[in-house]
Amino acid sequence: MTSFSHRVLSWFDINGRKHLPWQQQTCAYKTWISEIMLQQTQVSTVIPYFNRFITSFPDEMALANASVDDVLAHWAGLGYYSRARNLHKAAQIIRDQYNGCFPEDFDEVVSLPGIGRSTAGAILSLSFNQRHAILDGNVKRVLSRHQMISGIPNQSETLKKQWQIAEKFTPKKDNNKYTQAMMDLGAMVCTRTKPNCDVCPVHVDCQANLHDKISEYPNKKPKKTLPEKQMIALIITDGEKIYLEKRPDKGIWGGLWSLPEISLGEKVGQSETLDFSDEKIKNFLDKYQLTVSQYHQYATYRHVFTHYRLFICPVQLLVDTDNLQTLSSGELFSLNDCEEIGLPTPIQKIIFNAFG
Ligand code: SF4
Repeated sequence: MTSFSHRVLSWFDINGRKHLPWQQQTCAYKTWISEIMLQQTQVSTVIPYFNRFITSFPDEMALANASVDDVLAHWAGLGYYSRARNLHKAAQIIRDQYNGCFPEDFDEVVSLPGIGRSTAGAILSLSFNQRHAILDGNVKRVLSRHQMISGIPNQSETLKKQWQIAEKFTPKKDNNKYTQAMMDLGAMVCTRTKPNCDVCPVHVDCQANLHDKISEYPNKKPKKTLPEKQMIALIITDGEKIYLEKRPDKGIWGGLWSLPEISLGEKVGQSETLDFSDEKIKNFLDKYQLTVSQYHQYATYRHVFTHYRLFICPVQLLVDTDNLQTLSSGELFSLNDCEEIGLPTPIQKIIFNAFG
């Protein structure tokens, strides 16, 4: 065992997190769900989602046999919906190919949808105490600072250097504790901003600390301006029911119910107001032969995705009930239904804002 891992393990014994919901009666299934939920989401946010998910889908079979809509509804609010769809697909593979038991072989685990090298290593290490290195965001930060590893984040050369160090420090003994310890060290001490180096178990040989260069590691991605897109979201309603359409599985908010939208392409200038006579809205109304008795445009809502910014212009169209029923490609939902089904968070906010 290296001196690094020895010190990290001693720190974990006293300071590590040992009472998280997925750490009780450890099993690969719970570890897997928590690891996927924790990707880019903090522990405190994940806990209620995790508890609700496990209550509804207590094991691989329950998840595999659930409808994808039900799984997505439990995921709504966490974002990155492809992760929920991959969980569902992987559970079906586990049901059909592994008799409902989570596989224990690394190659089998890493071939499941949505599970990469680090997640596979974390699941097998935490659940079965197998020796595997991990390299999630927290571990990358700790190692990049401790070893002053340079390179553009997530580029293959940088990852190669980080994996080499991660493998070198990963102990054969107490691997499960070490994996949790590294995650905790990154989340609790070596934080993105203002790391608490005074209490860090590896501060004496942390290169970034010794050279006073912590803010430079991990190196930042070169800045690029995000493209901006604009769309109209149509709240078509008779005052009681709201018309929603299911989005295609691929692309943003894949497989979720959402408001019909009209793309306005790239956002041009600062203009965020629309005209009811806008040709695109007119075309939509003509296509579905909708007669609108009232029209209201709400303030533009901005949502930032990793690769672009989206400006959503919500427009409410009040139509009579008979007219609403002519819309055929989607379904009608009450406001209560909208709380139950998996709506993308910005769309849920837009609907609840419109209905006060
Ligand atoms: S000494 Fe500071 S920068 Fe270095 S690993 Fe510890 S917390 Fe991170």
